[in-house]
Amino acid sequence: MPTLEVRELHKYFGSHQVLKGINLTAHKGDVISILGSSGSGKSTFLRCINLLETPSAGEVYVHGELMRMKTNKLGERQPEDRRQVERIRSRLAMVFQSFNLWSHMTVLQNVIEVPVQVLKMPRAEAIEKAETLLHRVGLYERRDYYPGHLSGGQQQRAAIARALAVDPEVMLFDEPTSALDPELVGEVLQVMRSLAEEGRTMLVVTHEMTFARDVSNRVMFLHQGVVEEEGVPEAVFGSPKSERFKQFISSVY
Ligand code: ADP
Ligand code: MG
Repeated sequence: MPTLEVRELHKYFGSHQVLKGINLTAHKGDVISILGSSGSGKSTFLRCINLLETPSAGEVYVHGELMRMKTNKLGERQPEDRRQVERIRSRLAMVFQSFNLWSHMTVLQNVIEVPVQVLKMPRAEAIEKAETLLHRVGLYERRDYYPGHLSGGQQQRAAIARALAVDPEVMLFDEPTSALDPELVGEVLQVMRSLAEEGRTMLVVTHEMTFARDVSNRVMFLHQGVVEEEGVPEAVFGSPKSERFKQFISSVY
């Protein structure tokens, strides 16, 4: 059974159609890079998967479980069952371009917050787990720092530790290195590479072509809400079929 399946996903904002029938199947351990120029719908796609946005049409299945949606009196589609959304969303950890750490909490508090408050994990267990994760991303010594006292790369690594703390089925990364100074990109990509190597299922919106080519096992190129090119990296980069994708590659290298 696929870990994540998206079928014929459409998204409108008013009359503006942003996603035009996207399909995606991710099995355990798949690392799928999502490429595309600004405005092509990449963030909206990730946000529809964890229902931060409600898809206008189409289905999302997590481990075969359909995220149920209904149409309200105004004709708007919305989740049918908030508890289902919360339960499933808590297993689809998202890492944002802008880190989105809670600034009034230390690194450790950021990492234990959802396990303790949402997943009801005993605090001592959550702390022990968080410390292991912080070792893993190289931030154990900084566990009592507030985000404002960390570099961008450290903040993003803390955000990754926070994402890992919920034992996510799928990790959704939305341009995780785009806001970083160039010298800090490598330390974050290194952590992401190690997650891929241990078999995590990941969807990664990125402009890092080396990551897409070397780390992911599938690449998907979006253009104006349509999948223009898709396949294994060797095929997609080696012999791209779409002219738009060829142009895109030459523009980012
Ligand atoms: P990308 O992440 O590929 O840059 P986005 O998914 O952010 O693209 O945006 C795709 C299109 O959807 C853009 O035209 C953007 O303006 C529009 N859009 C995104 N979010 C909203 C929103 N909440 N309301 C209206 N339009 C939106
Ligand atoms: Mg985006």
